[in-house]
Amino acid sequence: MAIAIKTRYDEFHELFPKEPAFRWKQAEENFFKLGKNSWQDVSNLPKDMRATLEKDVPWVSYIDSQIMESSKGDTYKALLTLVDGQKVETVLMENMRDQWTICVSSQVGCAMGCTFCATGKMGLTRNLTADEITDQFRFWQTFLLQHPRLPDRISNVVFMGMGEPLANYENVKKTIRTWLTYTDMGPTHITVSTVGVLPVMEQILTDPEWPDARIAISLHSADPITRKEIVPSSFDQFLPKLKEWIARYQKTYGNRRHHLTFEYVMLRDVNDTDHHAEVLAELVTELGQLKVNLIPYNFTDIGLQRSLDSQIYRFKQILEAADVEVMVRKTMGDDIAAACGQLIVLGGKKA
Ligand code: SF4
Repeated sequence: MAIAIKTRYDEFHELFPKEPAFRWKQAEENFFKLGKNSWQDVSNLPKDMRATLEKDVPWVSYIDSQIMESSKGDTYKALLTLVDGQKVETVLMENMRDQWTICVSSQVGCAMGCTFCATGKMGLTRNLTADEITDQFRFWQTFLLQHPRLPDRISNVVFMGMGEPLANYENVKKTIRTWLTYTDMGPTHITVSTVGVLPVMEQILTDPEWPDARIAISLHSADPITRKEIVPSSFDQFLPKLKEWIARYQKTYGNRRHHLTFEYVMLRDVNDTDHHAEVLAELVTELGQLKVNLIPYNFTDIGLQRSLDSQIYRFKQILEAADVEVMVRKTMGDDIAAACGQLIVLGGKKA
């Protein structure tokens, strides 16, 4: 039976219902301070309170972790076991600034069922709480502190792990706001990747609390038939509705370069033909101010194949000829199944 997972905030207020609001803030800021490893280290809280918290409120929301390192040493993947025994994966990748980008999960599994994605095969088990998402950052922060030979700064976060972040909107929003409050990361260093959950994307346009993070739309095809095949959760009339939404998003947030990107996984003979490049170029030209990231597909046992390098190059050239800004994403961590589309936990064991 599923157990209800309380947040640290709720547990704190149940234990100390009469404490003023600033007390929780005093507690929370310590979660991101280096070298704080338990409630006992939270010296700005009264001693009795620390002792009670130590006994009754978990300092972190995972109870176990296993880490794998890629052969190049530039990517690490962690399998975190949560308090109810569920498992999620989170990834640490070295980035071009000699700092780190973390890829976080927002759900255990995913309901979207994208055909190329290992996580999609799991189905959805549950949403992660804001603590469980927030703590993926804390987990890697602690890991880096314990490995002084590695660069120590996490500069970017991408929501490209397990789950569709906009299907867990409130917890994702809360998490981003927490990171923006307590870390030195700015909002444009956080990217929320969505398969295109249009009703929630509408909410973003009017929600004053939605942070100014980047949005990456997992497009994967600008041809409606191909897109529906790859992303079966696609809404009817997805592409015209998406165009409309992008126009309103750009009006709301301005046309800042790179604020919106299209993610495009390159699948051999599925979405990588000249026709697919041409319709994508047409769409981006019409919209303007959007960058395209081509992602060479990472092998899983699903039966799809990565596009040939020559075809990826050709696809890119067709886009560039139409003045579309495009880059091919470097594949990292594929030897430890930490790359895009490879994260999967089946029955508590790594696949
Ligand atoms: S690609 Fe993302 S949205 Fe699609 S099934 Fe995988 S985790 Fe879910």
